[in-house]
Formats: sequence, structure tokens, C-alpha cells
Amino acid sequence: MLDKTEFYINGAWVPSRDGRSFLVLNPATEEAFATITIGGAEDAEAAIAAAKAAFPAWSMTSPEDRSGYLQKLLNVYTARRVEMGVAISTEMGAPIDMAVSDQAGAGISHLKSFIRALGALEFQRPLRDGVVGQDITYEAAGVAALITPWNWPMNQVVLKVGAALAAGCTMVLKPSEIAPMSGILFAEMMHEAGLPAGVFNMVNGDGAGVGTILSSHPDIDVVSFTGSTRAGVLISKAAADTVKTVSLELGGKSPNLVFDDCDVEAAVRRGAAFCFNNTGQSCNAATRMLVQRRVYDQAVEFAAAEAAATNVDLPSNSGNHIGPLVSEAQFDKVQKLIQSGIDDGAKLVAGGVGRPEGMNRGWFVKPTVFADATPDMTIIREEIFGPVLAMMPFDSEEEAIAMANDTPYGLAAYIQTEDMDRARRVAARLRAGMIQVNGASRAAGSPFGGYKQSGVGREGGFWGIEEFLEIKTISGIV
Ligand code: NAD
Repeated sequence: MLDKTEFYINGAWVPSRDGRSFLVLNPATEEAFATITIGGAEDAEAAIAAAKAAFPAWSMTSPEDRSGYLQKLLNVYTARRVEMGVAISTEMGAPIDMAVSDQAGAGISHLKSFIRALGALEFQRPLRDGVVGQDITYEAAGVAALITPWNWPMNQVVLKVGAALAAGCTMVLKPSEIAPMSGILFAEMMHEAGLPAGVFNMVNGDGAGVGTILSSHPDIDVVSFTGSTRAGVLISKAAADTVKTVSLELGGKSPNLVFDDCDVEAAVRRGAAFCFNNTGQSCNAATRMLVQRRVYDQAVEFAAAEAAATNVDLPSNSGNHIGPLVSEAQFDKVQKLIQSGIDDGAKLVAGGVGRPEGMNRGWFVKPTVFADATPDMTIIREEIFGPVLAMMPFDSEEEAIAMANDTPYGLAAYIQTEDMDRARRVAARLRAGMIQVNGASRAAGSPFGGYKQSGVGREGGFWGIEEFLEIKTISGIV
């Protein structure tokens, strides 16, 4: 059993002051493999105090200095990438090859984007060309609380820590208590990169404890959160009394609009595979497939075939399969939602309730496809966070847009068509933060985030750094 009970505060690993121990479970075996500590109020206070003390000096460092630290971190992270992939795979069940390439790899790509963005960012600029004595400066916003989930743990940790470092903020990170091993390893990397003591601090804990203290503490200036809409609402309320800047990256129920002029087989198979990737545990998963009626029946067959061809296997095995869900709670939630689809009368064309054939332990589920779902069904309205695709037919472009926007979420949307005029028209009317046409992925450093209840603010590249900056107007220096 790994002992990872210490916290990283003020440049050193320290024992908890008032926490309690907590077992970390491997989702493939359901067995505990590590002990961490759920921190208490004194632990959170110590971390916040260290970050506050480090802020005056760190916020005055030059962008070039901070870029140098980001480069050191990138070097350490790159050297330990495989170790990071193993930690992620063990704690949350991502298959090892994907954990190393995509999950751990995301951290490398984000750090490179932040270094590039920092080099191009003008921290001081005149109000307008030709105006003298009217300066606009961008400054570090203060002490940041970074609260992250378990589904893409390093993607989310690096998006926050990298941006906060680049901006000149000091910080306290609270990784997900369900998948804390990658966050602990990341803190080791921060130490190895030689950041000044107190700039980065890490405390493990749960939402009700450390999470709530961080989001309500008067010495925290910025809260950056990724996770459920439920927790995002609670954090916003907790932060309101001290008027903090809060950025939220929340859930989604992203539509994938398949028009009849596209390569239907390629588009549907790609869309279904994307929905099942990471066992469906991605906020931007394309979970509602809306298909033009002329090609709907064949699309249902292709989606069912893709589900049947998706292997479910141990995360420790090499290969292109999907692993288990992260936890028993997540397993129970997904089972309940699959059953609700059946009870509500959607047509089950692949998968269903229960574990895949031959598996009797681990939180593995079947890649599942429902056809003929209707707009009021729970499987169309709620974020499932499992490998479950729901399909509906549409007749016209107008109807497709209305169906796509009929959701409280607005994170991503996907369009499949050969007609670029249509793609432009539809993209302009979709109420979502990220639109991908024909599977084109977002370039590194693009802003990530959503409309409506999918969140507030953007992460990644220049836009991510901006979330940690204040704007100051100085007039009269001539
Ligand atoms: P969660 O939102 O409860 O937890 C995410 C992080 O927030 C964790 O670090 C947790 O400790 C912390 N947290 C929880 N409540 C908090 C509070 N009141 N104050 C401060 N911090 C708090 O997510 P979960 O319970 O692990 O998963 C539940 C559901 O959330 C999932 O089924 C999924 O639908 C959704 N989810 C979405 C994302 C996403 O990227 N959009 C990520 C994870 C989970």
C-alpha cells in the first residue's frame, strides 16, 4: 500500500495537522492501493497562508523568469511522463497507452502553449495608439484556489497551474480525492522544477471540507474549478460573500449533428468512438447524435457496430480499448441512467445494463447505444459520464439547430457535413463554446470552455492566463 499522506506546503512535504486518512481504490480491481489524507481546516489554512506570503515576490517576477520556470517544469514533466501515465491509469482506469499519450500528454501540450502565450502577452500597453499617459497593465490577480476532478486529471491540473504560474499568481491545488495520485506526483515535479517556496501548494481533501474552505476564504482571490455543475453552483455561492473571481468548467451534453451529405459511416463511427473514449468520462463528449432522417437508419447500424467493436479491458493492458468507470458511485449512476433509457422507451441497439461478458469485478460497463430517444428523456437531458450514446432523427437544418440548443449546457457541438456554407451557418447558431466540423480537432492553445450551464471563462493558452490577471488603468505617467 502506497503511503501518500503528506501535503506539499511552502516548498516542503509536511504531515497533515488535522486530517483523516482515506483509501484510494483501483477502479479495475476495486481494491485499495494507496492511503492519502483528507485535509482539515488547519491544513487548508496553512497552504493558503504559504501562498499568500509568497505572492508579493512571485507576482513581481518578470514574464521571462516565469517562462523559465514553466520551461523547467516542462522538462521535468516530459522526463516523467510515463510515470504520470501509470499514476493516472491506476487511479482512474484510463488504458495505459491512452493514459501516457493523451492523459499525461495533455500536460505537455498545455505547458508548451502557456510558454508560447506568455512570450506574446503584452502586460503593459497604451490605451490606444497615440494616447500618452494612459496605461493599461495586466497584473497577477492574487492567490488562486484550483479545484480539479478525476476524469482528465493532469489536463485539468496543468490547465490551471500553468496559467496561474504564467500570470504570476500563487496557488493552492486541491486535486480530486478519488484520483489524487497524479496530483501528488505533479507536486513532486513542481518541487523538482525549483519553484520558490509557497508559490505552489497542494492539499488533498473533499469538497465539503478543503474545497469549501478554499472557495470561501477571504485570502483567496480567484477560484478556478472543473467538475460537476452541482459543485460549481456551490462554489460560486461560497465565493460570493468575498466577491472572488470564479471560473468554472462544468458539464456538457454535446450534440453531434450528422447531415446526410457527409460520409455517414466515417462520421458516425468517429462520433460514437469519441463518445466512448475515456469510458465516456469527458465533459465535451459527443453524447447526443442527431441524424438527418434520410440516413438515420444506417447511422443507427453504424453506431451499434462501433459499440460492438469497442473492446473493454483492463487499464494495465496495452491496446486501444476502454477501461472501467472511475468509481462505484459512477458505475451505479451510469447503470441507473441506462435503465432509465430502457424504461422511458428508447430503443437499445447496443450494450445495456450490467458488466461486459466475462467481467465480474471492476467498474466496467458496456458501450451502449440508444436509438429513437426523445427530447424529454433523462438520457437526452442529463450528463451521463459513461459510454452511452443517444440518437435522434431530424428533418431540417432548422430543426437540427433547435434540438442541438435544447439543453441547459453549451460546452461543445459537432457538425458533420461536406457543405462548408452550411457548416458556417449552423456553427454561428449553436450556443456552445467549441464547434468541431468533420472531426477537426482544436489546435493546442485554443480556448476551452462553454456557454450556459457549462461554465464561466476559458482555459488554455492566452485565454487561460487571462483568467488569472487583473486589469489596472494608470493615467498621468507621462
Ligand atoms: P465533483 O464536481 O463533485 O468533484 C470535482 C472536484 O470538486 C473534486 O475535487 C471535489 O472534491 C470538489 N468538490 C466537490 N464539491 C465541492 C464543493 N462543494 N466545494 C468545493 N469543491 C468541491 O464531481 P464528482 O462527484 O467527482 O462527479 C460527479 C459528476 O460530476 C460526474 O458524474 C460528472 O457528471 C460530473 N463531472 C464533470 C466533470 C467535467 O469535466 N465537466 C468532471 C468530473 C465530474
